Amino acid sequence: MMHVIDDNQIRSMMDTSGDAAEVMEILQKSKSLSRLSMRETAVLANVSDPDLRKQIHDAARDLKDSIYGNRLVIFAPLYISNLCNNDCSYCGFRVSNRGIKRRALTQEEIAEETVNLLKTGQKRALLVSGEAYPGGKIDYILDSVRTVYSVRHGKDNIRRINVNIAPVDIEEFKQLKEAEIGTYQLFQETYHEETYHKLHTRGPKRDYSYRLETIDRAFEAGIDDVGIGVLFGLYDWKYEVLALMNHIEHLEAKFGMGPHTISVPRLEPATGCDITETPPYPVSDDDFKHIIAILRLSVPYTGLILSTRENAAMRRASFELGISQISAGSRTNPGGYSDSESCEQFSLGDHRSLDEVIYDIVTHGFIPSFCTSCYRLGRTGLDFMEYAKPGDIKKKCHPNALFTFTEYLIDHASERVRQVGSEMIRRELEAVNPPEFREKLRTILDKIKDGERDVFM
Ligand code: SAM
Ligand code: SF4
Repeated sequence: MMHVIDDNQIRSMMDTSGDAAEVMEILQKSKSLSRLSMRETAVLANVSDPDLRKQIHDAARDLKDSIYGNRLVIFAPLYISNLCNNDCSYCGFRVSNRGIKRRALTQEEIAEETVNLLKTGQKRALLVSGEAYPGGKIDYILDSVRTVYSVRHGKDNIRRINVNIAPVDIEEFKQLKEAEIGTYQLFQETYHEETYHKLHTRGPKRDYSYRLETIDRAFEAGIDDVGIGVLFGLYDWKYEVLALMNHIEHLEAKFGMGPHTISVPRLEPATGCDITETPPYPVSDDDFKHIIAILRLSVPYTGLILSTRENAAMRRASFELGISQISAGSRTNPGGYSDSESCEQFSLGDHRSLDEVIYDIVTHGFIPSFCTSCYRLGRTGLDFMEYAKPGDIKKKCHPNALFTFTEYLIDHASERVRQVGSEMIRRELEAVNPPEFREKLRTILDKIKDGERDVFM
């Protein structure tokens, strides 16, 4: 097996702790915005003293603010099929769940779902599927990506499609690249091999190593925009966080770059999955916030994604600590945006509409962003790292957030969101410096108000 992570190394570091002075030294280092080592991450993970944890969380807040500002990128999952040959013991789509309503959307149905997403104002979709595809694997996915990109509703279209689908081989990755996917996302679920084997007993997903080596194959095929993650609750979170860091170290050593995003799902209740009622390693809310804070400090330039799996209160707390992307207004069943009754993958912790989530975000001081410009200007992989590293994301991402949020306010927002949103944009614009740049942004915003769309820097 290829050496992607080193179980012994992770295990030997799991209990590494440091005194307050060492923690403060690590926090000082994190201010230079460079990635922390596995050992440093372990020291932060093992802090349990509330005062010291608070210092870590304050440092994460500062770092989040200095790199990402107050933007939150918004997307919605688009479930195209819940057919699946695997038997993951935590997922409602598992093959042994015989009684559930199964469905793979036709291309017409996918187009209808896309229209429904567009009507709410979404611009970024994450295509999600179980691992059993009608008419041959990759073709169904490729057709679906093309369908979503082709749909127009008024002036709206989905401008970026990320995918969360089962591992594929290098040739198939090349086809996904040609179809112009954004991020290829895959969660290892648990990096702990023994636990992995216990939870995945049937189907192609049984192969731990094939899954672990997937991101290598994606990079080898030329995809330079990837997302990784673990499903928290299956195994000890300290092991998983260090394994994520180990995986990133491997990718950086081999390809010179790490993942674009890390997702932090926590186990949610799912039909026919006893394990979700009593997770083997439950992660408390406090520990979950700590995980977000230490990841933010450890990999400053990697986006952190939180999904609708979390309730509104947890989402709010975690935005400040480091989350940079969230899903909103989501459904986790195929056809869910067109009122389908098919089985959902897991129960959602947040049932609010996109507009309600946006109201909440704005009233808590965050700017929702529907920006897709990096990917469309080719600022991905190493190019993105180069562009992001000097801490410059704000100079382009902040204006792009203002542009795309203004589009949302004009085209889709409710009256109350329009009011708080316009006020926010006015305040944000006033704070832009130097004045010439502010005027440039004002001119672009005026053009958007006059009907121009999809403007970005
Ligand atoms: N079938 C593909 C796979 O397993 O990689 C991709 C889609 S799968 C629907 C997407 C992710 O949903 C999984 O990687 C898993 O982490 C997450 N998931 C499954 N069951 C879950 C649950 N009960 N609570 C939270 N997330 C869950
Ligand atoms: Fe299938 Fe993915 Fe669910 Fe596992 S997590 S049962 S592979 S859809």
